[in-house]
Amino acid sequence: MTIDVHTHLGRDRMSMTEASPATLPALAEMLVKRMDSQGIGKAVVFPLEPLVHTELCLEAAAMYPEKLMSACCVHPRPVDEAKTTLERYTREGAVGLLMDEKTYYPADPAAHALVQLAVRMGLPIFLHSYEVTDADISFLDRLSMVHPDGQFVVCHMGGLFGFAKLLPFASRANVWFDISVTLIRLVESPLRVFLDALAQDQGVRHLIFGSENQADYEDIRASLNMLDLDVETTKTIMTENARRLLRIR
Ligand SMILES: [Zn+2]
Repeated sequence: MTIDVHTHLGRDRMSMTEASPATLPALAEMLVKRMDSQGIGKAVVFPLEPLVHTELCLEAAAMYPEKLMSACCVHPRPVDEAKTTLERYTREGAVGLLMDEKTYYPADPAAHALVQLAVRMGLPIFLHSYEVTDADISFLDRLSMVHPDGQFVVCHMGGLFGFAKLLPFASRANVWFDISVTLIRLVESPLRVFLDALAQDQGVRHLIFGSENQADYEDIRASLNMLDLDVETTKTIMTENARRLLRIR
């Protein structure tokens, strides 16, 4: 069973902020139908604060409990409120904490405190930016050292240029790279050399399948095929890493 650890509601990547209570039933159905046609068993739906709220994603997951899960996004301040909100979202079914670049400052101690709480609760942490900054990299460095039992997923592999800077993290057992958006661009770009370097040095077993949007499923598969992976590595990327991360039996 293939598991998509990172997707957003929407017809395509350009229209992901259109999800609203009114459009939710149609968009959730569109996602689930696409998953079925692509052989994808489960997907984690991500909010895009402030436009697409966590509540909407939790509602999508409640509509299709066998297929959809939801991540939650929490503003780190005020600190007490952040803690209560994270606990409430988790009770309501959230399976991961999304740290979106628009909602926190990597140097803010409150952001570190929020991640610490999520680690204690056993939630994977998704670092969501389209091109990582040096501050994001320091944040990941510190978190993955301080919390060896945490699980950190860098969304979009850190971006086309960010990925090269993140290569040293591929050897850390608690860091994964979600292949959405960036893998498609990377395999056709001169920067592919960094992907090949990863494959040679550490292997690509810390890549994990995310899509960003259901409209990208076919392109992502095509990019993965270009990597010429063996069956077992493909299974690790498409299924096993996510099972471990999300504790799916
Ligand atoms: Zn995303």
